[in-house]
Amino acid sequence: MNSQEIKALTGQYILNTYGRFPVALDHGQGATLYDPEGKAYIDFASGIGVASLGYGDGDWVKAITDQAGKLGHSSNLFYTEPPAKLAEILCQRTGMAGVFFANGGGEANEGMIKLARKYSFDKYGTGRATIITLNNSFHGRTITTLTATGQEVFHNYFFPFTEGFRYADANDMASLEAAAGDDVCAVMVELVQGEGGVLPLDRDYVQALSKLCAERDWLLLVDEVQTGVGRTGRLFAFQHYGILPDVCSFAKGIAGGLPMSGIMANAKCREVLGPGMHATTFGGNPVCAAAGLVVQEKLSDAFLAQVEQKGAYLRQKIEELDLPCFGATRGLGLMIGIAVNDGWTNKDIAGKLIENGLLVLTAGPGMRLLPPLVISQAEMDQGLAVMKQVLG
Ligand SMILES: *Cc1c(COP(=O)(O)O)cnc(C)c1O
Repeated sequence: MNSQEIKALTGQYILNTYGRFPVALDHGQGATLYDPEGKAYIDFASGIGVASLGYGDGDWVKAITDQAGKLGHSSNLFYTEPPAKLAEILCQRTGMAGVFFANGGGEANEGMIKLARKYSFDKYGTGRATIITLNNSFHGRTITTLTATGQEVFHNYFFPFTEGFRYADANDMASLEAAAGDDVCAVMVELVQGEGGVLPLDRDYVQALSKLCAERDWLLLVDEVQTGVGRTGRLFAFQHYGILPDVCSFAKGIAGGLPMSGIMANAKCREVLGPGMHATTFGGNPVCAAAGLVVQEKLSDAFLAQVEQKGAYLRQKIEELDLPCFGATRGLGLMIGIAVNDGWTNKDIAGKLIENGLLVLTAGPGMRLLPPLVISQAEMDQGLAVMKQVLG
């Protein structure tokens, strides 16, 4: 099928829930994608922070193919090797104590919320189930994670929403205290707010938050769905902040493009969920876990240091371009936000860049770049050249 046919068929048969750019993608190599007609696109998006190893990685393809040929699914009524090995690596590299595998970010966050409420119920009984989240956050699209999302635009249409969430301003301990109360069991944050606009939390704030949570026996829940698995130049963003969450979630980049997510609990929270209390049919699928193992092999400390360097390089070069539509950059590693100046809109800028062969994302009112972690120097420079040519 050509691009036109794919777009037409999609419009006819797929529910119209996405605002798509007018591009069909067919195949890719490294951080370069191609449409069915062979037009190339430099990828500064990796899906939405998912294709961390880019496209066509030989080891990733082989691991998936081999595992699919061996055993594609087993259910969680039986044991398989790949998810057990992946969980071992995740715990050893983070200091967390146990993993539950799921399939998407919102679903992982649901598990984290359930764990927090169960922890509190076990210890304190009912009436202590409120979770404080931050204004401008994003935690998913299920009914509960929509409520957890601290943006009013998401609290619409689908009433009634799940109860038990209050909101505080990021980087503001006074605002957190104002939201506190005897009914609180946890605080949930993204360390770099992704969808909200690539806004990193302050280190002092995160450390004070972690201390307060420990004092009040509130669980500190960190949503690493976007920041996790190497995106920020550490395996998990909490490793930049010198804290260990009680529970953290991960998803997007965990399996380099296959659907997989999960939560990791620390030693204190490891036994909160017992048999029959939480489950998901596809969780820990051996093919996805085999892909996740390849991602972990690639994400050595040296590789993660390169992620930080690439992020610094891109930010510096973008600032040097001094484009009229762009203000300052911000972010952590290869999670980059760019402010958009008055008079321009991020969607228009994204549309122009994409039309000219550079895939980018928006977040909040600004631009967001999440290139594959393996992006090459040449691909970064090609992408920057498109920016200069289109926006200069
Ligand atoms: C993408 C995202 C989610 C939702 O993940 P899905 O896989 O779309 O359910 C949740 N939290 C954060 C921080 C995200 O970036």
